[in-house]
Amino acid sequence: MSQLQTADTTEISHAQTASEALETAAAEVSGERKVLLSLVGGTLVLLTLLSNAFGLLPELVSQIPALIGAVLLAAPLFLSALGEIRRTQISSNTLASLAILAALMSQMYAVAGSLAFILLVADQFVTRTARGAQRAIEQLIGLTPDIARVVIDGAEQDLPLEEVQVGQIVRVRPGENLPVDGVVIEGRSTINQASLTGEAVPVEVAVKDHVYAGTTNLTGGIDLRVTEVGAETTIGKVTQLIGEAEKSKTPKQLIIEQVAQFFVPVVVAIAVVTWWAMIQSEDQAVRDAAVSTFVQILVVTCPTALLLASPTAMVAAFAAAARLGILIKKATNLEAAATIDTVVMDKTGTMTTGVFEVSKLVPAEGVSGADLLRAAVNGEQHSNHPLAASILKTGKAANVEPDGTRDYEEVHGRGVRARTSMGELCVGRATWLVELNPAIKPELEKVEAKIEGMSGVHVMKDGQYMGAVGLADTVRKNTKKVIERLRELGVRQIAMFTGDRVSVAKRVGMNVEVDAIEAECLPEEKHEQIRRLTRSGAKTLMVGDGINDGPSLAAADLGVAMGLSGSDIAANSAGVALMNDDLSRVPFLIELSRRARAIVTQNIAIAIIMALIGLGLATTRVLNESYGPFLAGLYQFATGVIVIANSFRLFRFGEHIAESEAEQESEGMVRREGSIRGLRSQPS
Ligand code: ADP
Ligand code: MG
Repeated sequence: MSQLQTADTTEISHAQTASEALETAAAEVSGERKVLLSLVGGTLVLLTLLSNAFGLLPELVSQIPALIGAVLLAAPLFLSALGEIRRTQISSNTLASLAILAALMSQMYAVAGSLAFILLVADQFVTRTARGAQRAIEQLIGLTPDIARVVIDGAEQDLPLEEVQVGQIVRVRPGENLPVDGVVIEGRSTINQASLTGEAVPVEVAVKDHVYAGTTNLTGGIDLRVTEVGAETTIGKVTQLIGEAEKSKTPKQLIIEQVAQFFVPVVVAIAVVTWWAMIQSEDQAVRDAAVSTFVQILVVTCPTALLLASPTAMVAAFAAAARLGILIKKATNLEAAATIDTVVMDKTGTMTTGVFEVSKLVPAEGVSGADLLRAAVNGEQHSNHPLAASILKTGKAANVEPDGTRDYEEVHGRGVRARTSMGELCVGRATWLVELNPAIKPELEKVEAKIEGMSGVHVMKDGQYMGAVGLADTVRKNTKKVIERLRELGVRQIAMFTGDRVSVAKRVGMNVEVDAIEAECLPEEKHEQIRRLTRSGAKTLMVGDGINDGPSLAAADLGVAMGLSGSDIAANSAGVALMNDDLSRVPFLIELSRRARAIVTQNIAIAIIMALIGLGLATTRVLNESYGPFLAGLYQFATGVIVIANSFRLFRFGEHIAESEAEQESEGMVRREGSIRGLRSQPS
């Protein structure tokens, strides 16, 4: 895993993305300076153009402003070109610089100036749009206030966020956004977490609940103890990951960059040959137009639009995904989603809610139900497993308090072993306990027969079998619809992998109609199965709960981790993290990926066709000799704008889902209000 990561990072640092290239260029000459440059330089060039048109100044003098203007305007471009040459990544800036140099050397100062002007304006436009897209994502994922109301010795004090420390108490009023991640220690409220999870339904929080920076406190005042600030918060990590995703490259982008490099010498050769042929001409007019044509060819074929084809689409797709609480970690992860033909889902917490009801306590002979429950609670007290959570809840309702032991170990996919005040407890799946002590098998089988069709958590104390807790969870209500949608999208095989027993797996699997079921899998068996699938050529997407299923998520072509919060997101090995637990995001992701792929293909086609048409126009001298280069610059700019606009259509993809969910939610509220009113109007 760590090896994989280093490989990826070096790949990124070797080759630059278009947006990075833009960034370096922008860093060389800052944005404001470019605006100033284009104003001053543009005016100077205009002066020459006017003077030429109206014959205001003698020929030689009138050229001077344009020369100065051209050099000023072209300076940032020259710097970027030098950067490209230094990195041996000769590309659009080098081509454009060569064009301007050619014009300057042939003393066509006004031509060089106007060309540099339009290229500079185009560059600023692109840089700004790229930044705008980034800002749009940041806004999407919520706003963290930069001041927090900290309660110190009972007094409120506004502190800048940088000064807030973990462990302090922060007070948040209704209507405010949360400045930090924390745990509620006083009050109750509802919180809109849509900015983080894409889930329109507000969640209710009370004491001990975790709350997150960037989400909105709606109804009540709450005090919270700070657990994370700044970059350590969930939203901070998400923002950071999106930033990294934007910098990551797909293989397609790397190919495009290589093609663009190969392009440069070809274009220069065409331009030189054309120029050479033209200066051989008998016709004076043709000879005069030679340099202008040379310049035009270089400008119209600049691969700027080609280099933007993929990164702009990726950024827009990341934003569309973030709005629905889907965090894509790398561009390659998005690309992988397009070709998925096999989907494997974990059962517990993925296809089902993961919220179990304890439906049955089945103690072994001579053991009381109360002792069984106490043992189960003591064993599970520190486990995060959904089964453990339900047992602890039941224990609490029955006033069974855990004894607080710290001496325990969780055995993944099997259960928990803990040394408690009651003795050594092993709590978990049947096969594991039998493995530990084969002698308990007959007793265990008797108990298991009584919880047929339920998930069983078996308990053993000091090698002695105590019985089992039978639990049942419910299938999420949209699981079946999601599976249907996946089939519509052409997914050929949908399988369910679970560590739970066969009877439970069958009940759930038949209910939602999957093609294959693998039950009673250990985590390493799930992993092995996924590897077998990918080796056999299936393009596999695995959806799981991220903690237990880490290796399987990493082994699949695309791993999707569900319902993570806090630090898990960054640490997790899945390529995609769902900030909510809505399975319908999986088919959406596949659609988004295909849409993005189509748009990248369109963009590449647009860039190439426009370059070819431009080449045709330039070589056939359709464009006027003195305005031609400027028009070529405009033409190139227009191509870039078309590509960007095409990509940014993706921003809107999925808007309808967010909207309809919000609508459903507000309808729900109206209904609830209605029923309250209905109650009130009833005569008492
Ligand atoms: P799933 O594949 O359904 O998500 P897991 O791999 O998380 O299941 O766990 C497999 C099985 O191991 C569970 O069905 C349960 O019987 C047992 N198990 C794992 N962890 C625990 C735990 N903390 N407490 C009780 N049982 C556990
Ligand atoms: Mg699981």
